[in-house]
Amino acid sequence: MSESVTECAYCGCDVHRHDPVFVEEVDGGERVSAGAFCNYACLSSYIDAEGLTIGATCEVPSE
Ligand SMILES: [Zn+2]
Repeated sequence: MSESVTECAYCGCDVHRHDPVFVEEVDGGERVSAGAFCNYACLSSYIDAEGLTIGATCEVPSE
């Protein structure tokens, strides 16, 4: 197979053996891959481990 294995950013497993979730971020107007995960459990654990939600919010409270 020429297709390379996509490893989970959290646990390192081959995501295609599970129920993969792919995350993208926008950098300079371009969508770039921010990681692949086995499923939402690995994504959630990764977010917790990396503290990615610290200081992040989608609505800025008014005062
Ligand atoms: Zn995983």
